[in-house]
Amino acid sequence: MTPINHHISDALLLEYAAGTLEEGWSLAVATHLALCPDCRKRLSLMEAAGGALMESIAPETTPERERESWEAMLLRLKAEPAGAPESDAKPARRTIKDVDRTIPEPLRSYIGGSLDAVEWRRLGIGAAQYQVPVDGDLNVKLLRVGPGRPLPEHGHGGRELTLILKGCYRCEGEAFGPGDLDEEDEETVHEPVVTPDGECICLIVTDAPLRFKSRMMRAVQPFLGI
Ligand SMILES: [Zn+2]
Repeated sequence: MTPINHHISDALLLEYAAGTLEEGWSLAVATHLALCPDCRKRLSLMEAAGGALMESIAPETTPERERESWEAMLLRLKAEPAGAPESDAKPARRTIKDVDRTIPEPLRSYIGGSLDAVEWRRLGIGAAQYQVPVDGDLNVKLLRVGPGRPLPEHGHGGRELTLILKGCYRCEGEAFGPGDLDEEDEETVHEPVVTPDGECICLIVTDAPLRFKSRMMRAVQPFLGI
């Protein structure tokens, strides 16, 4: 497997460690962590720093809310360490027949165990998508785009996380392959293009509807549900 080149930013990893991320963001971050020993190491350094901070704060002077937040984080770290064994994983939402080991938990349970089990909905432009069921307002989906094709072009209304699961795309001269986490914000308009050697499947989490630049895409967006 090619090495992972694009990792979780410090800011995002801190939010994850503190337990303040919504389910959709956490899903992308935790799945990257399962694939990436480097980020697991960074997370454990942050946990150690957080533990030291906890010890330095006298319990009677700790604001209740702050303590609750740290306790929630510690509970979560206990329940869901990166690369957690199967028994600790979130229960599957449907029967898993063929477990695809290339898709780690927690994402594997959300998509029915395997990329083959996904009920894709065609977008009619050499692409297909699957809306991943999560709690909260975030838009979480799998996108499958054919070789040599661009991902639907868009700007962002907020943060966007793209985790590559299969294949590769190029964006702004950089290559993104399996395990890479592409973190964008409202400042970016990026136009990833899938490499010609195969299709690309990625998990995309956004906190606002994608704004397509092309008039045609904007016109059909409500019907596609993207
Ligand atoms: Zn990483």
